[in-house]
Amino acid sequence: MGKMKDLLIELQETPIMTPCPDCFGEGDIIYEVPRPHNVGRDVGVIDVEMEICETCSGDGEIERLCDCGAPVTKIMGDDAEVCMECADEQ
Ligand SMILES: [Zn+2]
Ligand SMILES: [Zn+2]
Repeated sequence: MGKMKDLLIELQETPIMTPCPDCFGEGDIIYEVPRPHNVGRDVGVIDVEMEICETCSGDGEIERLCDCGAPVTKIMGDDAEVCMECADEQ
């Protein structure tokens, strides 16, 4: 198989990755946990906790998906938002 064809197949099969909208590409989500004052503590404080983002599993990026649910692959160009099949139908 020629190199050009390999490249083409790779482009067709490699999904475009897009920064995760839930963690803004960080991979984890920081949230505040208010701890009201109690017997052992005079003042209420806000703790900051961090957890792995569920949407991207901590990767900070997700596959860009077409409206039909299929991944948009690199063959469509970096700005594409539809998959190959949907683009064919248009
Ligand atoms: Zn995320
Ligand atoms: Zn599609």
